[in-house]
Amino acid sequence: NQPVLAVVGRPNVGKSTLVNRILGRREAVVQDVPGVTRDRVAYDALWNGRRFTVVDTGGWEPGATGLQASVAAQAELAMSTSDAVLLVVDATVGATATDEAVAKVLRRSKRPVILAANKVDDERLLAETASLWSLGLGEPRPVSALHGRSSGDLLDAIVDAL
Ligand code: GDP
Ligand code: MG
Repeated sequence: NQPVLAVVGRPNVGKSTLVNRILGRREAVVQDVPGVTRDRVAYDALWNGRRFTVVDTGGWEPGATGLQASVAAQAELAMSTSDAVLLVVDATVGATATDEAVAKVLRRSKRPVILAANKVDDERLLAETASLWSLGLGEPRPVSALHGRSSGDLLDAIVDAL
């Protein structure tokens, strides 16, 4: 049984794009419409000879429950069913109230949490990354899921944590 990485975060921060980057192929569903990943979907990943399972989350149904409660519930579920959690935050937006609610849940986790500061497409956005230390989850790791910038460094951190 290979270790499981769960990917959590608000809609539209780039979770599915990052999952595709981790897989090295285009498979997870990416859309401009928030909440488009209907369910938790598991994929097999391989990095530096280490196999692991990546679980992409999403599936927020607008109106069913509040966004914040829904994303926090995803994080709870992710914590209980994975070996490590990857929290994805949009560095171009910074930490929102929903990000803070999720971080609060994840800080209680006994499992490792990796904080990805996504959409850092170029150097000018590196400054934005540092503000995410406020989430209390350790070092925010800048990455661009879209362009692949620093994705190797993030994957190194992921397999170290698993
Ligand atoms: P999810 O809802 O968190 O799974 O987010 P998606 O992966 O579906 O992406 C939402 C939107 O953000 C899409 O338009 C992506 O192309 C865009 N996106 C994802 N990663 C990046 C990134 O690194 N940089 C930029 N500029 N856009 C990104
Ligand atoms: Mg998605």
